[in-house]
Amino acid sequence: MSARADVPAPLARALSEPVKTHCPYCAFQCGMVVDTTASDRRLDVQADPEFPVNRGQMCIKGFTSAAILDHPERVRSPLVRGRKGKFEEVGWDTALDYVAERIAALRKTHGASAVGTFGSGALTNEKAYLLGKFTRVALESEHIDDNGRYCMASAAAI
Ligand code: SF4
Repeated sequence: MSARADVPAPLARALSEPVKTHCPYCAFQCGMVVDTTASDRRLDVQADPEFPVNRGQMCIKGFTSAAILDHPERVRSPLVRGRKGKFEEVGWDTALDYVAERIAALRKTHGASAVGTFGSGALTNEKAYLLGKFTRVALESEHIDDNGRYCMASAAAI
């Protein structure tokens, strides 16, 4: 089972042969093989039969991961809620400035503990380290959590 999506030309050129990588969605990080070599320039995602964690298996999120790449409703730029409550497209600089201003305003009004960060079990060790440093040193907050508590904890409780 696999999912396919149109391959942008630069990606097709970069991936001239099948590439082993990981599903980005959850902490299992299932091994997958991304293949752009099909003659119709479609991106094909298959479970990696040699990866010891999933051994050729993936859940539906992994199998369909390529399908969202060219989905017409995919969000392709930052959205900021405007004065009338509707999302408006903005550039990255505007979006990041907005986030920085809001964090600074919240810290000033309510203290450093009013903000926190939310990571993921899919982060690499290096990214998890940086997120911890950013939270504790830059934001001076003790509040850091990740999606594992919300995703896997509910699954484990069933
Ligand atoms: S279990 Fe599913 S979502 Fe998690 S890494 Fe594997 S394929 Fe991806």
